[in-house]
Amino acid sequence: MCNCMNDTLEIAQQHIKKDLPKHDPASVKIEWAGKIFRLEGNQNNNVVLPIDIRYRALKNDDTPYKNITRTGTSMAMNYCPFCGEKFE
Ligand SMILES: [Zn+2]
Repeated sequence: MCNCMNDTLEIAQQHIKKDLPKHDPASVKIEWAGKIFRLEGNQNNNVVLPIDIRYRALKNDDTPYKNITRTGTSMAMNYCPFCGEKFE
């Protein structure tokens, strides 16, 4: 099992921290947004790809609601996006 997700995040964290405005270093939290933790097996490197869903819902009389409805879901990735190794 590769360690690309952790290695890449570490590099990104170093760059991001340098560019942050004045802040409390103890408060910084930079993580993969799509990271999931599986109950069994390897817990380090599984991520999901988010899917945005937007639509304008219709009322019972077919007139549209004023606001767009935004929701979403996500899909687990089976292979490392950096090196292509299959996730366990
Ligand atoms: Zn990898």
